[in-house]
Amino acid sequence: MNSDEIKQLKTFIRQRISELESLINEADNQTAQSDSTNHTMPPISVESMVNSNTGKSLIRLKRNLEWLASEDAGYCGECGCEIPFKRLKAVPVTRLCVGCAE
Ligand SMILES: [Zn+2]
Repeated sequence: MNSDEIKQLKTFIRQRISELESLINEADNQTAQSDSTNHTMPPISVESMVNSNTGKSLIRLKRNLEWLASEDAGYCGECGCEIPFKRLKAVPVTRLCVGCAE
């Protein structure tokens, strides 16, 4: 990838991160509300959100953002080959090429 593509990916990943963070915040607000108004509903803890797919994706996106800022940006974590820009745009949480992911 050239530096322009890495820049595009970083912007893209940052957008995804803020989307996921607002999702988690919303769930958090709903927990606060249900605590004061409805005690029959089990509260959704922040911890369970972090363990959910949303939380996992968020962690992986943040890691990949750091990865894109490093010298290894865009190179497969397994075989070291260059991962195509299109793949990273389609699957921004991955750090493996198509061959290694299978
Ligand atoms: Zn690979």
